[in-house]
Amino acid sequence: MSYLYETHLHTSFSSACGNTKGSRYVRLYQDMGYSGIIVTDHFFRGNTAVSRSLPWTEWVKQFCRGYEEALNEGIKRGFDVFFGWEETFDSCDDYLVYGLDKEWLLEHPEAKKWTRGEQYQAVKAAGGCVVQAHPFRQHSYIRKVILSSGCVDAVEAANATNYEQSYDALAMRYALKLGLPVTAGSDMHDERYFWSEGVFGIYTGKKFHSIVDYVNAVCNNHINGIKINKGRCDYYGDEKVILPVEVRDANDKSTDIHWHDII
Ligand SMILES: [Zn+2]
Ligand SMILES: [Zn+2]
Repeated sequence: MSYLYETHLHTSFSSACGNTKGSRYVRLYQDMGYSGIIVTDHFFRGNTAVSRSLPWTEWVKQFCRGYEEALNEGIKRGFDVFFGWEETFDSCDDYLVYGLDKEWLLEHPEAKKWTRGEQYQAVKAAGGCVVQAHPFRQHSYIRKVILSSGCVDAVEAANATNYEQSYDALAMRYALKLGLPVTAGSDMHDERYFWSEGVFGIYTGKKFHSIVDYVNAVCNNHINGIKINKGRCDYYGDEKVILPVEVRDANDKSTDIHWHDII
């Protein structure tokens, strides 16, 4: 028996680029055979839909609403909905954070100012995990590809919203070379993606009872497989990276490692 989970999803309430309410996704994923979804709205320095001028307590409450709407629908339908978020650094690189909750956030306003290194240390200390999202994505809004090799537990090797298959091929190769566990997710922003882009996720042999089970599956490399489109992570060796690439270490310091040496 295997279980399938969405690991990367945005709601219209909490992500400025989200087009569909969290609650609407529940039936769609349920009908597609998923066991659950993890809502990962854009966090404080990402494309959040919640005003950054709000006091922290109010910001967190509103930020969590996209998830809570999905959760309420999930409870009605007997479908698991878990909480996470996606933070952005320097408008370049993104990280999926899992395992912490609303109560934890309310007590930790410093989360909105973390460096990549502080994020990793604080999330680990609180029992969570950090996954770099779509590390090789290249887009007009990204200045630089930043590979955080030391401040993550895993790499999102396949992201259904990446425009080019090569970004996923590079991400998979990078993760395997570093020996990091891999995840896959849809980066779902709009229910219409369901019929066009493909819906990604991860398989596990054990049902998740809480987000802690997902954190353990990631950190112990117990993810059984990823759901992706065929050929999505196939590597040919001629994949191009047009943007500058920076590799950062476990102290979140820039290194002189050339990215070709870790691909
Ligand atoms: Zn977005
Ligand atoms: Zn995302």
